[in-house]
Amino acid sequence: MNSGFKHSSSPRGTSAKAESGVKPPHSKFSPDVPSRVIHGLLLDELAAALRALGAPVFRAQQIWRWLYVQRVTAWDQMKNLPAELRARLAERFDLQAAAAREITGEPGAAQKILVGLTDGECVEEVLIPAAERRTVCVSSQVGCKFGCAFCASGQAGFRRNLSAGEIVGQVLLAATAYGNRPTHLVFMGVGEPLDNYDEVLRAIRIVNQPDGLGLGARRITLSTCGVIPGLRRLAGEGLQVELSVSLHAPDDALRARLLPVDRRYPLPELLATCRDYTVQTKRIITFEYTLIKNVNDAAGQADALARLLAPLSCRVNLIPLSPVAGFAGEPSLPETAKLFIRTLTRAGLNATLRDSQGLRLHAACGQLRIARL
Ligand code: SAH
Repeated sequence: MNSGFKHSSSPRGTSAKAESGVKPPHSKFSPDVPSRVIHGLLLDELAAALRALGAPVFRAQQIWRWLYVQRVTAWDQMKNLPAELRARLAERFDLQAAAAREITGEPGAAQKILVGLTDGECVEEVLIPAAERRTVCVSSQVGCKFGCAFCASGQAGFRRNLSAGEIVGQVLLAATAYGNRPTHLVFMGVGEPLDNYDEVLRAIRIVNQPDGLGLGARRITLSTCGVIPGLRRLAGEGLQVELSVSLHAPDDALRARLLPVDRRYPLPELLATCRDYTVQTKRIITFEYTLIKNVNDAAGQADALARLLAPLSCRVNLIPLSPVAGFAGEPSLPETAKLFIRTLTRAGLNATLRDSQGLRLHAACGQLRIARL
């Protein structure tokens, strides 16, 4: 597996330490005993690691509770463990893969956290509180390869995948900021989750563990720009996660201009794959459609979208564009957005128009990171 400490230190590693309080890579480990962020282990792997240390397996459950129920940040806080075991664990594993470098927004409203990683890289996460929900929107990669025209995440290119421990670390930072465990998790931050398949799935399984963070699969949403091999694999996982597919255009000519991935995985194949996915998993897919003034919001485009999606069991989520530097587009006018949704609804589609501060913040994911590079 990937470890949060495997990556080589960037020139900014030292300053990241000062800013974030995260230890630099290999701070206390010899190179032949790679350190590992403990939050990247599945429960059965933790049990195996304890067996290897000669400790009884029931310790795994105890440690799991300290990590994900009490959410301790120091080994010494694991009071029911023998001091000697704590010391050996501290030698082998690290407790922190991610640290909050900067938080914007006020508690109780949407907040964005700039997340510092141990090698000096950073990503973003967004907290979106609502009545009964504490949603966290996490990043899956440092930067992005996919270069969608209106998305800030890929503007500075791709740096690396996040490890599962770094993804789980973001959920733990959200728990700290909320003062409670998040109830919903969405992979809509920086990066393409299906391009970091193994670590994302591992993170999902870790946070899904009932006696830990206990995030039910149906409260976890994975959003993809349409990476077909990843979608096919996901269909066979037997997981009940929610799936969002970023569509943004009803035809390949426009979609390829907005989402270069469309050239590799064009709409007919993508929609056929989505259809297979719904048949195999019996789950409904949500299609994300960012409304951009005079680009993809004409009545004819709504008709074309309705025809395209008619054979699928799906929802459509319309989101007005969040303006980003480097993309000249503007959000659709409210009247146009209303007309667009009415066309979809009349055609029998289940469509919602969303425009909240939290969504604007999450849609603008990547901008804070870019601003701080
Ligand atoms: N790579 C994944 C997840 C990250 S983006 C994906 O493409 O789905 C999460 C959602 O926000 C996507 O639907 C994306 O297209 C959308 N998005 C990105 N930038 C946006 C912007 N400036 N305004 C509105 N939505 C945006």
